Parts: sequence; C-alpha cells; structure tokens
Amino acid sequence: MRQHNTSEARLLRLRANLERRRVQLKRRMAAERQSETEGYPDLTSGGHDRGDEAQADMRSDVDHALQTQELGEIREIEAALARMDAGTYSTCVDCGAEVGARRLDAYPTARRCRTCEEQHEHRGEGGHVPGT
Ligand SMILES: [Zn+2]
Repeated sequence: MRQHNTSEARLLRLRANLERRRVQLKRRMAAERQSETEGYPDLTSGGHDRGDEAQADMRSDVDHALQTQELGEIREIEAALARMDAGTYSTCVDCGAEVGARRLDAYPTARRCRTCEEQHEHRGEGGHVPGT
C-alpha cells in the first residue's frame, strides 16, 4: 500500500534524525566532560585563591545544568526510539489516539497528542485524569 510505505519512510527518516541528534548530544557531553577535567584547577593541589574557586564552582554549575538538559534530551530520544521499536511511536500514551504527523515532525520525541499534551501541561506532572 502506498499509504503504508509513506509512513514507513517517514518513520525511517524521523528515526535517522533522532539517532543523529543522539550522537551529537553524546559527543557534546563527552567534550564538555573533557574540558571540565582539563580546564579546572586541581582542587586537591591547593595554592589558588578563593576567587578562582568560586568561579570554577559557578562554571561547573552551569555545565552541570547543561549536561542535565542534554541527558534529559537523550533520554527522550531513546524513549522515542524504543517506542518506534515497539510500534507505538505515533500512539498517544494518554488517550491512545494517533499523534499527528505534523506534530511528530515538529516534536519527534512527542509522546502525547496535542490535546493531551495541553491538558498535561495545565494539570502539571502527576495529575489525575478527571472523569475516570
Ligand atoms: Zn492523546
């Protein structure tokens, strides 16, 4: 079926994009980790003033926040890839409806349809679905 082939091709394309993005993120994280160990003063050696120390702490906080963000994105991507393997990639985890193709193009890691995502955001994390 032509329809089926089209969605297969789309899925393959999205998958390739996600995998490329994941490689990119992992590379960036590895590079950040390396610059962290090379660029910071050795805290065990002593002999540096408090100003340097504070600055190093601040930089490490920023790097840490960035890495947490990147790690979060990698997890999202891996979850999306796992859903592709399971064949549930375009199925909304909340209502089971098909997540629109345009939404998946814009947000390849989306796990909810637009309606559910909006409700989820209003409700906040861990909310109860009303009327069930
Ligand atoms: Zn939904």
